[in-house]
Amino acid sequence: MRTVREVGEFGLIERMRRRARLAPSVVVGIGDDAAVLRGPGAGQRLLFASDMVVEGVHFLRHRVSARWVGWKALACNVSDIAAMGGVPRWAVVSLGLPRGTPVRFVDELYAGLGRCARRYGVALVGGDTVRAPQVIVDVCILGTVGPRRLTLRRGVRRGDALFVTGRLGGSYRSGRHARFLPRLAEAHALLRRVAVHAMIDLSDGLASDLWQMSRASGVTLRVEAAKIPVARAGRTLDRALMDGEDFELLFAVGAREAAQVPRRLGRCPVTRIGSAVRRGVGVELVRRDGRITPLVPRGFRHF
Ligand code: ADP
Ligand code: MG
Repeated sequence: MRTVREVGEFGLIERMRRRARLAPSVVVGIGDDAAVLRGPGAGQRLLFASDMVVEGVHFLRHRVSARWVGWKALACNVSDIAAMGGVPRWAVVSLGLPRGTPVRFVDELYAGLGRCARRYGVALVGGDTVRAPQVIVDVCILGTVGPRRLTLRRGVRRGDALFVTGRLGGSYRSGRHARFLPRLAEAHALLRRVAVHAMIDLSDGLASDLWQMSRASGVTLRVEAAKIPVARAGRTLDRALMDGEDFELLFAVGAREAAQVPRRLGRCPVTRIGSAVRRGVGVELVRRDGRITPLVPRGFRHF
């Protein structure tokens, strides 16, 4: 009997994607940071996404406070909406709690959720509460996006320049995986200034998310080792490439527009890391010695 372990997260998602029936109201279904749906008004688009945080998988209770667990559960959803060029608006929160959970833990969790909601303009409008073997916080978010701001993973063209926000790697050891600021204002500032062809938020590690973008766009992405911005806690290039949960943005712009991309968005650095070199799916790394090798992701695996 085949198990989910053998098929893996991405294999499972691909199975679901193949089986999903698309309705006429669905502009983009499974496969991007959020689904894009036709809203009730003409030209209106809704963004719909969910992300779940599970004790023992995404956080350890003695390592991360309840406030930051709550913050993270909403912030990773805001990050997905930001990566689509959208505005996060409404969220529902489903909680799984062991019976022995202190009420104070739940209060603090909601303090963190509420703080994130206020900061990013999200209304918490419902959810569900059930018993579970460990703490689970499952957030589902709805956002809106103007048709000209909508930015998918699949728009990279040959010759495009690739950029990332922030610095990468070591988010678990530094605690940044929970205490991060989703790049919402940065995404909007960027989209106001430059025509962005494609964008994704970095949740599975740069190498893995480059593959997602390459697969969606059908072009080979080449990044330069010497240009990858490594976070202080990341320390090594390897961690910056492979560690997950950076929640930074990876985006592509036309070669001619590359000069219009600002070096900073607010206080957040923006770094050019490579380009899209040819048709066909693939990700390559230009090593410091100039050798070009395939970049194989080795990030966190769920199964
Ligand atoms: P992200 O890291 O941006 O949240 P994921 O890697 O979790 O994206 O998911 C990739 C795509 O697969 C998304 O479009 C997501 O909606 C979809 N997806 C993930 N899990 C499921 C599922 N159980 N059923 C249907 N679609 C799913
Ligand atoms: Mg995402």
